Amino acid sequence: MRNISILGSTGSIGTQTLDIVSKNDDLKVVALSAYGSIKMLEEQIRQYKPKLVCVYCEDKALELRDNIKDLDVKVVSGMDGLIEVATISEADIVVTAIVGMIGIQPTMAAIKAGKDIALANKETLVTTGHIIIPAAKEYNVSILPVDSEHSAIFQCLNGENKREIDKILLTASGGPFRGKKTEELKDVTVEAALKHPNWAMGKKITIDSATMVNKGLEVIEAKWLFDVDFSQVQVVVQPQSLIHSMVQFKDGGIMAQLGTPDMRLPIQYAIYYPERRYLDGQRVDFSKIGSITFEEPDMETFRGLKLAYEAGKCGGSMPTVFNAANEKAVAMFLDKKIKFLDIYEIIEESMKNVKLVNEPSIDQILAVEKETYEFIESRWSK
Ligand code: MG
Repeated sequence: MRNISILGSTGSIGTQTLDIVSKNDDLKVVALSAYGSIKMLEEQIRQYKPKLVCVYCEDKALELRDNIKDLDVKVVSGMDGLIEVATISEADIVVTAIVGMIGIQPTMAAIKAGKDIALANKETLVTTGHIIIPAAKEYNVSILPVDSEHSAIFQCLNGENKREIDKILLTASGGPFRGKKTEELKDVTVEAALKHPNWAMGKKITIDSATMVNKGLEVIEAKWLFDVDFSQVQVVVQPQSLIHSMVQFKDGGIMAQLGTPDMRLPIQYAIYYPERRYLDGQRVDFSKIGSITFEEPDMETFRGLKLAYEAGKCGGSMPTVFNAANEKAVAMFLDKKIKFLDIYEIIEESMKNVKLVNEPSIDQILAVEKETYEFIESRWSK
């Protein structure tokens, strides 16, 4: 029996994790957390019977507590509550499906409590990789990537020696606006940006795919997960999203992982690693696909990727500024307060203006996040 705690159970990765749990008798959910979607959370509680749940918003937690009076479930709230879910003694593995930098502290707490991490919260690694990776080594826990690209790389590296990597070929779909130029992106709507061609994902990551900021975050994530330099991470646009990423080794050989775009595969692989289990769903039929095509990313139009490389190479707190500025900008875009291309402008200006901190601690990272938000509010929210 493998006991699972899920941070962010009502989101896209969270619900797909629960789908895997429902299809496997040897998985048990011991704790769940949600931001505020208590109706869905209540259904999950009644179906999966965790002993602990956290609702981040306190008033919603009170409401849920009242709604599930008939059940023996502890309801907690806030950051302390998230940490309780992340460190619950019964859990063997914590799925960090929570979105944003809010995931840093619970992930760190889970590592210190000796839990393996199925990592879907990329912001944690992007901003805090220099702390998380050494901590995972120190506490002897595994960080198992859930992001499809990183899972693909992880699968390609199975049985290989990391020191023999020449480069990582991180694939990208190019998002809904692939092929467009800056002029054509000026007035794109939220609705258009939310239409991803291949993957069904949460809102924030779908916008991040449209700007290619998502790929930028993944470049930084890859650097930390696989201990490579930025010069060794190359983005390859592969619009059919069939190749989920590749690794080129010193001898020129390339390993690729392919499959239909289904996030449940990387989630399940992380949960059962190194074992592979049956997973229902479509299989790749090459006779129907016909061709797989490749392109170079357009980093001039989709500046999110270029800015990510710059932030990553600069290091220190710069990836935090990049990420925090993007989080804020995407929220503003979803609220229709700014235009699509303003997202790049906000990230770039934040990177120029927020003071750099070298080797930042978690407290400093959270302070930089706050400072970045304040900078953006002072300049754009008038
Ligand atoms: Mg991905």
